[in-house]
Amino acid sequence: MKCTAVVACLGLFSVLACGPVPEPATDVAAPTAASASPQLDAIIAHALADTFALDTLRELCDEVGPRLAGSDGMRRAHAWAVKRLTAAGADSVWLEPATVPRWERGVEWARLTAPYDAPLTMLGLGFSEGTGPDGIEAEILAVRDWEEFESRAEEAAGKIVLFDPPWKSYGPNVRYRIDAASTAARHGAVAALIRPAGFGQNTPHTGVMRYADDAPRIPVASLSTEDAALLHRLADAGAAPRVHLKMSATTLEDGPCANVVAEFRGREIPEEVVLIAGHLDAWDTGGGAHDDGAGCVIMVAVLKALADLDLRPRRTVRVVLYTSEEYGGQGGRAYAEQHAAEIPNIVLALESDSGCFAPAGFSVRADSTVVADLAAYAAPLATLGADGVRKGGAGVDIGPLVERGVVGVGHRVHGSDYFRYHHSPADVFAAVDPADLAANVAAVAAFVFNLADAPEPLPRNAPATTP
Ligand SMILES: [Zn+2]
Repeated sequence: MKCTAVVACLGLFSVLACGPVPEPATDVAAPTAASASPQLDAIIAHALADTFALDTLRELCDEVGPRLAGSDGMRRAHAWAVKRLTAAGADSVWLEPATVPRWERGVEWARLTAPYDAPLTMLGLGFSEGTGPDGIEAEILAVRDWEEFESRAEEAAGKIVLFDPPWKSYGPNVRYRIDAASTAARHGAVAALIRPAGFGQNTPHTGVMRYADDAPRIPVASLSTEDAALLHRLADAGAAPRVHLKMSATTLEDGPCANVVAEFRGREIPEEVVLIAGHLDAWDTGGGAHDDGAGCVIMVAVLKALADLDLRPRRTVRVVLYTSEEYGGQGGRAYAEQHAAEIPNIVLALESDSGCFAPAGFSVRADSTVVADLAAYAAPLATLGADGVRKGGAGVDIGPLVERGVVGVGHRVHGSDYFRYHHSPADVFAAVDPADLAANVAAVAAFVFNLADAPEPLPRNAPATTP
């Protein structure tokens, strides 16, 4: 998909950021019933037994902690990544610069002040304005969805508008996260609250929002589903609930950040690169375990499995841990621009950014013939349940490479629980099942080795196609 404008890109990234890749169609049948080679058997056995990935994820979530792009936490994450990639056996590790937006949450809270005083569970949305030092205290106008708001818009002036849409799926629900503030502000609201774009228990979910140019910039936060429902019930009962919202959020000037890159060089055709990726930035809540600490750790552990087993594939395996996926994909775009001349040699890009649950296979953003051909490389992963290959999305960070013709692959998992954790305080190390993490390392490592070591040319898109 080509972005025709910056706004379109932001919308695309906001909707797709960290969501599971679309699930169309059915899996493509592998053209041959390939059986695992001794090398693939060794990779899978090693990955299932090694605790490196689990130890490394615990370090990232617990010891590095919050890591918004452009923050001190992200600089800690860079140091962690260099150390872990080096320990894993990379031939070389380095940082590549990327300029990123910056935002700080600061101190924030919300309280119900009428009909009685009680704390509310909240998280400010990324790039929201703050409330000023005294906060904002106002009556709640509770609506279910856009349609109800439009029918009651004349009631919004001076109020805090609560959008409480039932959970359908990330696509429609995230629109409230992105657009609630400006929609409410056009009709005089002083702040906005949303039921979260997620369904954790008593957990708010953050993520980027966006201000329209034609509306005042009012603060906006996610409540928990339960607290949104409480306010909605009180309003429906005629109790005129009031909320005091305090947020000291600040948007800073764009600043320097970096993608972390490491290589395990190929033994025969090192100039050909199989690029494997996750994003190192994470929301400043929980530990960013599913999103996307696990995706990063899987790639580091893939490199370690190959190095430990001394399985040096024909092509180079390059790990890229991107910055600023959560803020809109600035790390991915910077990488593609800096590597524009090299793109013909990037034979495939794979990203894991759909949470860490039991492996399901891979989705491919490429020509249909490529999708069918790649199914054969995943066929040996049947014992892991990871042989399902289908056409679909690949990943936000590798998107700019795919738009320039690189075959894009997304790591698929059984992620129906993802939005219990996504962008919330529940996305902690303990929320990742160690067996799932190990199985994902095994699946990705075996698939990547099978591709990078293939004696034949890897399937490519037809020239000048943009899947
Ligand atoms: Zn993500």
